[in-house]
Amino acid sequence: MNKKSVRDMAWEGKRALVRVDFNVPFERGADRISDDSRIRAALPTIEHLRGQGAAVILVTHLGRPKGQPDPALELGPIAERLCELLAAPVTYVHDAAGADARARAEALNPGGVLLLENIRFYPGEEANSDAFAAALARLADAYVNDAFGTAHRAHASTERVAAHLPACAGLLMEKELAYLGAVLESPERPLAAVFGGAKVSDKVKVLDRLLPQADAVFIGGGMAASFLKAQGHGVGDSLVEEDLIDFCGGAVRRAEESGVALNLPQDVAIAQRIEPGAPTQIVTASAVPDGWMILDIGPRAAAAFAAALRGMKTIVWNGPMGVAEVSPFDQGSRAVAQALAESGATTVIGGGSTAEAVAAFGLADNMSHVSTGGGASLEFLEGAELPGVAALDDR
Ligand code: ADP
Ligand code: MG
Repeated sequence: MNKKSVRDMAWEGKRALVRVDFNVPFERGADRISDDSRIRAALPTIEHLRGQGAAVILVTHLGRPKGQPDPALELGPIAERLCELLAAPVTYVHDAAGADARARAEALNPGGVLLLENIRFYPGEEANSDAFAAALARLADAYVNDAFGTAHRAHASTERVAAHLPACAGLLMEKELAYLGAVLESPERPLAAVFGGAKVSDKVKVLDRLLPQADAVFIGGGMAASFLKAQGHGVGDSLVEEDLIDFCGGAVRRAEESGVALNLPQDVAIAQRIEPGAPTQIVTASAVPDGWMILDIGPRAAAAFAAALRGMKTIVWNGPMGVAEVSPFDQGSRAVAQALAESGATTVIGGGSTAEAVAAFGLADNMSHVSTGGGASLEFLEGAELPGVAALDDR
């Protein structure tokens, strides 16, 4: 990585403004965090800074308050959990760039930790306001971006603030860029890209970028239906993006021409409704009757994908193979996750629903890297420059 790292800077007696991504899920209608992995993922950077004698000022967003305060999106439960995980006091101030925040920041001792208010309570954040960024910058001596999950957004606390302070990448940001960067730049081969999820339209750019690069591509999820239709199969009432049928046909042709193995499911699990336990049939991919929808890859496809994946050395996976949040349409994703876990390959999970599925199968620890950023990892793999990364100081 050609960006400055938190490890490259001297921190003794300094105050670090650290953008983290503590946008964690909560249990429905409760104050309880249901998955704290994003908080845990930022601990190495926070501990590094404290260990080096810095005071740490944390900035995050939570939810979508649209530039105004929302008591339901205050950070109390996050401050509490962070305090437990660090086994150290955390001060939470209901201010981000005003006099209260400044007073709290100035009162910090080396090793002290301050959490600012939900940064999206302030309209200057998403507007990428220079004045707001400057006010944030006045709290600290240097800026660390460890919020990979928000790095595809140009906001005051992710992008503009870096113009006002020495700016470097945190340890999580570095790790994300290293794993995802390796997929694009120097993958150990064979390289496989596995795509699924709801829509082809979400994956057009990443397919364009990775199809010529990969040795094998696997297509599952809802997007498989448009590919099957492009091959002339009837797909019943499956989700099809008519305007992308040509793109799908073109991708299949390009793969053939360049010797990339493009794998579509040979069989599929179908149902008439997306409901837990809905009556399901397994049919060959060319025999989906009207009134039925493809909701998962079938067992033969799962076995074929799994067998081929076991021979790969680098595997990147973005998008579940079926409606993984509704049983039994999680079977294909489970088989693929299992194959990745057993492959011995460098395995990179592209955040979002894919990361959720892998976690639900209890296989997250068996992957080389599970990204904390769904949208950010997708944009990175598309080859886009992430504004939150571009803004950091070069080495
Ligand atoms: P992310 O949430 O990370 O953006 P995607 O949008 O790529 O992930 O895909 C996740 C969604 O795709 C899930 O909500 C899942 O239910 C849906 N999905 C997967 N397979 C199918 C399918 N065959 N038909 C309809 N929806 C599907
Ligand atoms: Mg999506």
